[in-house]
Amino acid sequence: SRATLFDAENKVNITFDDVAGLDEAKEEIKEIVDFLKNPKKYTDLGGKIPKGALLIGPPGTGKTLLAKAVAGEANVPFFSLSGSDFVEMFVGVGAARVRDLFRQAKEKAPCIIFIDEIDAIGRSRGRGMMPGANDERENTLNSLLVEMDGFGTDSGVIILAATNRPDVLDSALLRPGRFDRQISIDKPDIIGREAIFKVHLRRLKLGEDVDAKKLAAQTPGFAGAEIANVCNEAALIAARKNKQEVNMQDFQDAIDRVIGGLEKKNKLISPEE
Ligand code: ATP
Repeated sequence: SRATLFDAENKVNITFDDVAGLDEAKEEIKEIVDFLKNPKKYTDLGGKIPKGALLIGPPGTGKTLLAKAVAGEANVPFFSLSGSDFVEMFVGVGAARVRDLFRQAKEKAPCIIFIDEIDAIGRSRGRGMMPGANDERENTLNSLLVEMDGFGTDSGVIILAATNRPDVLDSALLRPGRFDRQISIDKPDIIGREAIFKVHLRRLKLGEDVDAKKLAAQTPGFAGAEIANVCNEAALIAARKNKQEVNMQDFQDAIDRVIGGLEKKNKLISPEE
């Protein structure tokens, strides 16, 4: 049904408070919040508000979270779809979905459209290996380009897209008037990890021995998604032991479990090792 084509969360409760670290990215993206809140301030002076920004960074680093926080801060609706939904799609369906998304978004403007994994649609044209499937992806990409060109900068629709493969994107997507801003989001360092732990620890009933700094030191290489996972696992481990609070030992067990899960995943991805 139409309702399942994409999420139209009319109210987003996420704000910049929920996004830990990423100070530079937040600073850059604040401008977009201001465009959404006070478009006239910019257009009165003859400025053109950008249509889109690309969030670039590894999986699980908070790109989706940050895009939602923009909608939450500006108090506008959030429409999203994922590039991976467009893989293996029947002819014409992808392009129709994109048109439908933009039509609905324009009706609800000001708003955010978020396209996760845009590289699945926006891979440079003529680079795929399966000719048949590729044609349909190109149709989808073309309709995205047409839609982006088809509305004015004063329409109040801002498109955020996420990718961890900016190198494969079709250059047409990066032209002025399309995704002409790029915001990079890196894996957190130890300070960033501590901040992310603090955000996710807020939800738990903690013992006195729990120390975010120590947890950050024990989780090198973890992205935000893995840290969120550790916090949830720790609560489950403590609950299974019928405890009233989550202690450092539960976190240590959770970290081991998450590392174990990551190793398994890596083995599946690279069978030659
Ligand atoms: P993907 O590329 O895999 O879609 P992503 O970069 O969009 O990943 P998110 O989906 O935003 O990552 O992150 C997943 C979850 O991890 C978030 O919902 C949040 O719970 C947690 N998380 C990730 N980064 C942060 C962060 N900087 N601060 C707080 N929580 C974070």
